[in-house]
Amino acid sequence: MKIIGLLGGMSWESTAVYYQMLNRMARERLGGLHSVKCLLWSFDFAEIEAAQAAGDWGKATDMMVEAARNLERGGAQCLVICTNTMHKMAGEVQAAVSIPLIHIADATAPAILEAGCKAPLLLATAYTMEQDFYKGHLKAAHGVEVRVPGPDDREEIHRIIYEELCRGEIWADSKATFLEVVAKEAAAGADGVIFGCTEIGLLASAEDFAIPAFDTTELHAKAALDFALGAQASQG
Ligand code: GLU
Repeated sequence: MKIIGLLGGMSWESTAVYYQMLNRMARERLGGLHSVKCLLWSFDFAEIEAAQAAGDWGKATDMMVEAARNLERGGAQCLVICTNTMHKMAGEVQAAVSIPLIHIADATAPAILEAGCKAPLLLATAYTMEQDFYKGHLKAAHGVEVRVPGPDDREEIHRIIYEELCRGEIWADSKATFLEVVAKEAAAGADGVIFGCTEIGLLASAEDFAIPAFDTTELHAKAALDFALGAQASQG
């Protein structure tokens, strides 16, 4: 089993979910007392959020690169950035290490394609919904073209992520907002919904929606485990 290097703490609320999912999936796959071998670099999210909000992506990139190198030095054999947004600097992070980075969009796209979705709705931070690093990667590498909600809905989703979900606050009103946005976009042609922020699974689950949902946290954790286990057979 290979050692998974987790770049987490963005926020730790979702990193905890990654850790739990990875270990549960390992137990399901290998049985007994098996669990994953991993190293976790957990940021102080206030420092990351401050750099994001200031538009200081250079500083954020430096922090990510340093942490990635630390994980590699510690023995990590792959990197998992436990947030969609911070894939903005996935290229720089990958270039700084010699272990593979398992990209969250590469982990998500096959499920979208397999479901036959042609116009999935991307729910994420404003950075991820509005900039090109994520949407562009999905299109260029996988031919997946996403839709995003309108400006007011994007602003409210971004607010819910940073002011509630990343602080562990889960409110019924905010879930209702997500359901309304998805229903509205589905009526306008969206045929799937991407949980493009690793905290969204704390608020809603696939069963809440009439169209197929793709939880990037779950799909990313699964891809990381596939890499870590390689061809390792189930040990029952
Ligand atoms: N975890 C979130 C994401 O998947 C947002 C927090 C962040 O800015 O990293 O994008």
